[in-house]
Amino acid sequence: MTRAILRAIQDDITTLSVDAIVNAANSTLLGGGGVDGAIHRAAGPDLLRECRKLNGCEPGDARITGGYRLPARRVIHAVGPVWHGGGKGEPAILASCYRKSMALAAVENLRSIAFPCISTGVCGYPVELAAQVAIDTVRAAIAKPSSIGEVVFCCFSPFDLAIYEARLARFKSVPPP
Ligand code: ADP
Repeated sequence: MTRAILRAIQDDITTLSVDAIVNAANSTLLGGGGVDGAIHRAAGPDLLRECRKLNGCEPGDARITGGYRLPARRVIHAVGPVWHGGGKGEPAILASCYRKSMALAAVENLRSIAFPCISTGVCGYPVELAAQVAIDTVRAAIAKPSSIGEVVFCCFSPFDLAIYEARLARFKSVPPP
């Protein structure tokens, strides 16, 4: 089994033709601002209709829906933590978002998945710390055999992209744990 490719790009996640994009959702799963709003706008009202049936989701957990008008076939809605300084379990909750999203994608036999920088917008999680959690958790997930062949970290800003690229470069020659 070949190991999944990890890469960081700067793009609007709603435009990506991957098997699943991950939404940085809030616990109502009924849409919001930032990437959540962009995904719901691009997917159209049927996404909200499906989300209403899910009855919300706890922080650190994730749910999967259709992609509707998005180029992505599926949307994985992960609820990230609000940053309170790091002492309220934020890293564990954020890691759980990435782990659960990867597990949902694997259960559905998906090949490619793209993540936004979960919790680093209105939730206030410092990007550098969030990138560390994101990359380390995904590296651990891809160490186990699964359908997933490609993981994209879809950054919205050049600043975020530089942080992801620097951390990914550190692991270029080091095998995952
Ligand atoms: P959170 O509540 O998890 O902090 P936000 O949507 O406020 O969610 O921000 C999460 C990240 O998503 C931020 O890095 C923000 O810049 C980014 N983002 C916003 N819109 C998009 C988009 N269309 N594509 C990719 N990333 C986006």
